[in-house]
Amino acid sequence: KEKTLAIIKPDGLYDNCTDKIKNAIFDSGFRIVKEMLIQLDEEAAVSFYAEHSSRSFFSSLVKYMTSGPVLIMVLEKENAVADWRALIGPTDASKAKITHPNSIRAICGLDLQKNCVHGSDSPQSAQREISFFFKEKSSG
Ligand code: ATP
Repeated sequence: KEKTLAIIKPDGLYDNCTDKIKNAIFDSGFRIVKEMLIQLDEEAAVSFYAEHSSRSFFSSLVKYMTSGPVLIMVLEKENAVADWRALIGPTDASKAKITHPNSIRAICGLDLQKNCVHGSDSPQSAQREISFFFKEKSSG
C-alpha cells in the first residue's frame, strides 16, 4: 500500500483539532504507521521547505512552522498521497471553507498560511519527506 507524510502544523494542535483530524484520518481508511510529536528548529524547517526558499512568504512560513510542536505522521492506504491531499483540501483554508467545506483545512485551518496540515504532493515527495523525518535504521 502507498504511504504519505502528513503533518499537523502548530495551529492544528490547538483546540481539539488533533482529535478531529485523526477521526477524519481513520474514517477515510488510513492507517497511521508512524507518529512523532516534535518541535522543529529553524534549520529543520528551512531544510524541509527548501523548495520554497526563494518565495516571499518563506521566512514567515519558517516562523509559523517553528512556533510550536508539530505532529508528524506516516499514513498508509491505497492511493494515500492523492487521497490525503483531497481530504485536506486546498492550500488556502479561508477559500476551502467556501469551496471544500468538509475538508480538514476548511474545518481546522484559518488562512493561506495557517492551514493546519501538510500533505506530500507526489509519491516521490512522500518518500523524500518520510525519510527526512524517519531516518532508515542502518545495520551498522
Ligand atoms: P503543504 O506543502 O504544507 O501540504 P501546499 O502544498 O498546499 O501545502 P505549498 O504551496 O507547498 O502548499 O506551500 C507550503 C506551505 O506554505 C502552505 O501549506 C502554507 O502553510 C504556506 N504558504 C503557501 N503559500 C503561502 C502564501 N502565499 N503566504 C503565506 N503562506 C503560504
